Amino acid sequence: MLWHPCTQMKDHERYPPIHIRRGEGVWLEDEKGKRYFDAISSWWVNLFGHCNPRINAAVNDQLDTLEHVLLAGFTHETVLDLSKRLVEITPPGLDYCFYADNGSSAVEVALKMSYHYWHNQGKKEKTKFITLENSYHGDTLGALAVGSVSLYKDTYAPLLMETIAVPSPDCYHREPGESWEAYSTRKFADMEAALAQHHEQVCAVIVEPLVQCAGNMRMYHPCYLTLLREACDRYGVHLIADEVAVGFGRTGTLFACEQANITPDFMCLSKGLTGGYLPLSVVLTHTYVYDAFYDEYSTLKAFLHSHSYTGNPLACRAALATLDIFAQDNVIARNQDLSQHLRDATGPLADHPHVGDVRQHGMIVAIEMVQDKHTKTPYPWQARRGLQVYHRALAQGALLRPIGNVIYLMPPYVTTPEQIKWLGDVIAECIG
Ligand code: PMP
Repeated sequence: MLWHPCTQMKDHERYPPIHIRRGEGVWLEDEKGKRYFDAISSWWVNLFGHCNPRINAAVNDQLDTLEHVLLAGFTHETVLDLSKRLVEITPPGLDYCFYADNGSSAVEVALKMSYHYWHNQGKKEKTKFITLENSYHGDTLGALAVGSVSLYKDTYAPLLMETIAVPSPDCYHREPGESWEAYSTRKFADMEAALAQHHEQVCAVIVEPLVQCAGNMRMYHPCYLTLLREACDRYGVHLIADEVAVGFGRTGTLFACEQANITPDFMCLSKGLTGGYLPLSVVLTHTYVYDAFYDEYSTLKAFLHSHSYTGNPLACRAALATLDIFAQDNVIARNQDLSQHLRDATGPLADHPHVGDVRQHGMIVAIEMVQDKHTKTPYPWQARRGLQVYHRALAQGALLRPIGNVIYLMPPYVTTPEQIKWLGDVIAECIG
């Protein structure tokens, strides 16, 4: 009857899905009353807890006013308010919002818009995209094509457009004693070379700023983004920042691009946008991009892309309530303290004989389990170590969902320091 996402359904013969009947704050409760701490924010979407009274009230109010209206030929106050707020809080220059309803669709929009921009400018030879190895941008065909996690991609390779993949600045591979900054700077040489060789055919470079989340939570230094922005300008290539996972405070700043002091040409947002309530995504871009599509209808320059639920009022209202919480509760400053607690709770794991790395960007911390610490030899994927950790942690009431051999915490921002300490202890016990 029900086919679950990202799941080998046969696994459920042994481990049936957990039936959740309610959520409250950081907790999910199953039908027998057992509670699970949502340490991964339900696939990185939840920011301020489940059934948050403030977001509930806003969505309820919206429900009594307007549940949905198409956004072509019509508009509404909630989407106008949200667009104004997003333009205010994102890096300067991002002046227009184009909505879709999930992260993958936002990536599709950004890819199409970049290509179409060059097309409208008469640069019809620009048809390619540069991506980073180990990146993930979603599961629809265009988004899958610009990603490179082979587990999700390889089967579909014959269906996908070709891209130019450049080695990642992922600091897990740095030499002993080498700093993140030195490594990420050194790895930029590959990007520079790819741009030098291909820029005339390239529409855009697409990256996940600072953390390649689905690619084992691998991280890099902001200097890479600064170098990339400068090089994209120099070569006449767009920069697409996919902040679907890292946006809304995950890396310590409201948006990861802020740490490099850059504005991308396109910024994709989703997940935390509605506080984890409803599907919504948005691509922010510049006036110069908007203007390249603005003309008489007969020129056929318009961006004729749509989704039925584009700009849904309930989702936009949840997003506005989420932004209110950011503004009223000084969330980013408070998260600095929580990030320190995350560091304290997981730092000692670095000494464990089967931990190859403990890394962190703000509210994301990742622990890489290895078979051999000195050579960083991974456990074979067939051993499904992460799955073992998953079940062991569930038994203790913690929802971790390791990616391969990488255990990570990406908790809601309403987590307490005591809960973080407890999660650190659960992880230590599981690895042990
Ligand atoms: N981009 C990034 C960086 C993501 O992490 C994800 C989802 N994990 C997506 C895009 C796709 O988002 P969605 O699952 O909402 O389609």
